[in-house]
Amino acid sequence: MNKFDYACPTSLAETLGLLRDGDEPMLLAGGQTLVPTMKQGLAAPDLLIDLNAVSELMDLAVVDGEVRVGAMCRHAAVAASPVVREKIPGLADLAAMIGDAQVRNRGTIGGSVANNDPAADYPAALLALGATIRTDRRDISADAFFVDLFETALEPGEFIREVGFPACSSCAYLKFRQPASRFAIVGVFVARHRHGVRVAVTGAGAAGVFRWTEAEAALDGNFARRPLSGLALEPDQMLSDIHAGGAYRAHLVRVLTERLVETLGADGARSGKK
Ligand SMILES: Cc1cc2nc3c(=O)[nH]c(=O)nc-3n(C[C@H](O)[C@H](O)[C@H](O)COP(=O)(O)OP(=O)(O)OC[C@H]3O[C@@H](n4cnc5c(N)ncnc54)[C@H](O)[C@@H]3O)c2cc1C
Repeated sequence: MNKFDYACPTSLAETLGLLRDGDEPMLLAGGQTLVPTMKQGLAAPDLLIDLNAVSELMDLAVVDGEVRVGAMCRHAAVAASPVVREKIPGLADLAAMIGDAQVRNRGTIGGSVANNDPAADYPAALLALGATIRTDRRDISADAFFVDLFETALEPGEFIREVGFPACSSCAYLKFRQPASRFAIVGVFVARHRHGVRVAVTGAGAAGVFRWTEAEAALDGNFARRPLSGLALEPDQMLSDIHAGGAYRAHLVRVLTERLVETLGADGARSGKK
């Protein structure tokens, strides 16, 4: 590991100053991805800015009808939050499915979203729920945020303050997990909104998380399993690796979507209370 300076700011203002003044600074959230990456020499910041004492990034509250989750909220905090469970139960379920207890106690929503791992769970929720990523500079819609594998719309030195989730009528998430890491081989998040249905898929797309717009259009007219039966994703647009080929992933996306539609159609249990 390269030598680096370490700073532990206690406010957003101090964090901004450090980011501005550092040559190649990097933010440290839970360190679940960044620390192994540094140990392998794949990241070599000259300054590591530890966000763990910035309490402004740990808020989780409802503001103007939106659930706002601070960037430093751990997955375990999102899973256990009564606010998230009441307003967006599918999001609480998703957070509870991430990794294992140790990972959920350290990993953060900001780190996960900034990293944009193609198998990460949160990106599917952000896309399906139509979330807004708020940085120190601007608001970015989830549709514009996730650019490619491990690539986002964040500019150098820009950091995520919080993620805002609008209320939905009902939503749910399912994943077919890799048994060792528990990352998604395929994960699907379905959200019903007043203005339509959104279906987002993680783990499967060759270019990372994506919305399955054909399924959305089919479900908008008729929220039932039947309209999905004729739809098929292209296997060559799916990821293919030792865990699953493209055709298998494409098949899993439809199966998981069908199961979610059955759950949400038949059962109001995953409905968020506004
Ligand atoms: C064994 C294991 C199993 C896992 N299983 C799953 C799983 O099932 N599902 C899943 O979704 N994830 C899984 N993860 C990923 C994990 O949940 C973390 O979300 C992910 O590793 C990011 O880690 P972190 O939050 O600790 O961020 P860090 O590792 O600290 O940071 C990650 C990157 O984001 C940047 N960053 C951090 N915070 C911000 C910010 N506020 N603004 C801008 N940039 C920022 C950092 O500079 C760095 O580049 C797993 C990880 C491990 C180690």
